[in-house]
Amino acid sequence: MSVCKNLKGSFKLTEVYPVEALPMEVKASINSVLEARKKAYAPYSGFLVGAAIITESGKVITGSNNETINHDGYCAEATAIGNWNDAGAEKAAYIITAGAPNTGEPDANEFATPCGRCRQRLVERFDLETPIICLNQTFDSFRLFTPGFLLPFAFYPKCLV
Ligand SMILES: [Zn+2]
Repeated sequence: MSVCKNLKGSFKLTEVYPVEALPMEVKASINSVLEARKKAYAPYSGFLVGAAIITESGKVITGSNNETINHDGYCAEATAIGNWNDAGAEKAAYIITAGAPNTGEPDANEFATPCGRCRQRLVERFDLETPIICLNQTFDSFRLFTPGFLLPFAFYPKCLV
């Protein structure tokens, strides 16, 4: 999909770019991530996260983090991946994440990248080169990653055969 190629061609992994620099169709998806983030259940950490998987046909599948008091909740990425799976697991064009505290001052220099457990989910279910757009806490800049970059030397399903 052109969006994918545009992202890869225009942005370097890990560099910080303004959201304004994203292609129009990608910017249009950011609101979905921010709306998903507002649905998060995070009474213990107060850190709300939204994630969206945008498929090649343009479906936008979202998720938010859902905590439990025993620290065994689900990340936004995990929720989105589960929803994406149940929606048919269509190939993803790109993924967006947005995490920020619900109280206090957000830090524009902090980018909520997927945790270790989610990195394993990402390498198992998506192309290793799928763009992952991680927004900063003020949602006005981003850093680009890919599943393969975030989890090098991963243990893949094909390792079992
Ligand atoms: Zn996670």
